[in-house]
Amino acid sequence: MEQTLNAASTIDEVLSKRPLIISGPCSAETEEQVIETATRLKATGKVDVLRAGIWKPRTRPGSFEGVGTKGINWLNQAKKITGLPVAIEVATGKQVEDALHFDVDVLWIGARTTVNPFSVQEVADALRGANVPVLIKNPINPDLELWLGAVERVAKAGIKNIGLIHRGFSSYGNTEYRNAPMWHLAIEMKRRFPHMMIVNDPSHISGNRTLLQSVSQKAIDLDYDGLMIESHIDPDKAWSDAKQQVTPERLAEILDGIKWRHETTTEREFVVALEKLREQINHIDDELMQLLGQRMKIADKIGEYKRDNDITILQTNRWNAILDRAFQKGDALGLSKEFITKYYDAVHLESINHQNRVMNS
Ligand code: PEP
Ligand code: MN
Repeated sequence: MEQTLNAASTIDEVLSKRPLIISGPCSAETEEQVIETATRLKATGKVDVLRAGIWKPRTRPGSFEGVGTKGINWLNQAKKITGLPVAIEVATGKQVEDALHFDVDVLWIGARTTVNPFSVQEVADALRGANVPVLIKNPINPDLELWLGAVERVAKAGIKNIGLIHRGFSSYGNTEYRNAPMWHLAIEMKRRFPHMMIVNDPSHISGNRTLLQSVSQKAIDLDYDGLMIESHIDPDKAWSDAKQQVTPERLAEILDGIKWRHETTTEREFVVALEKLREQINHIDDELMQLLGQRMKIADKIGEYKRDNDITILQTNRWNAILDRAFQKGDALGLSKEFITKYYDAVHLESINHQNRVMNS
């Protein structure tokens, strides 16, 4: 039987609202905290689903690991008071059973679970036959196949309403984000599942309060279906993810601050202008491709020359000179050092591969 929230709306109907806003604390801490959060979120009039973690997968032992099953009662209490459907994270078969037993409206699979096919399969097996929406977060590491695999496993278990949550990816080195968004990966997922809902989780991407607004805006500009943002009645005192949580009232300000755009507009002029610009980009991309092809042909020639004269492929001085020159030119053209480095690394590697092929043929 379809779960009924009130006379008019089923959970599937609630989830089909656009933009869909999911909010609530990183973790359920106490019954009072859950109920006050829900009440204040409800009062904003902007939130559709209440979230809270009751089992928290923590990277290191000794951190707060969640209140466990009793938290579901607190959430259901909050739901009774506010009418907001509730969502929790599940990571094991037992957690799924408990969530289903207590009629939790929406389940999500966390990033630390999506990375592990054994765990995802266990969750999927426990879901078999259930009629509950399942949202699947991207895996911690930037591996689209794991995300796809999780969707396939949950779909094979017969779950009809599957959605995606993009929460960013762990990356080597410092970036301004806690989890680098790598938007292109989420966009590729959208391309593979054009009809599947995808919401963005600016909280876990940002890891702090300052970036929330701009990450949310970017997601909406990219036509995401909604946002999942963590909120807490007293963010600084939160038992987990304190730095990134905001009060329900601040959440409302952030949502008000977003410029809600749509992917297409009926204004023909705009569509035509956009098409033209995209055309130009396609042309330039084609030209770049041609030029890169030509560049590699020259690399092949150099390879032949080096082979015939017994010279090593990699000549560090030459490479440093190329990079220095590129940084200077790039700077004048408004291209970041980071981009230039990545671009030249890729070109250089391809060049070396070409020369290698020539020299060892
Ligand atoms: C969370 O939503 O609080 C959480 C643990 O997120 P993630 O799985 O994205 O790290
Ligand atoms: Mn969190």
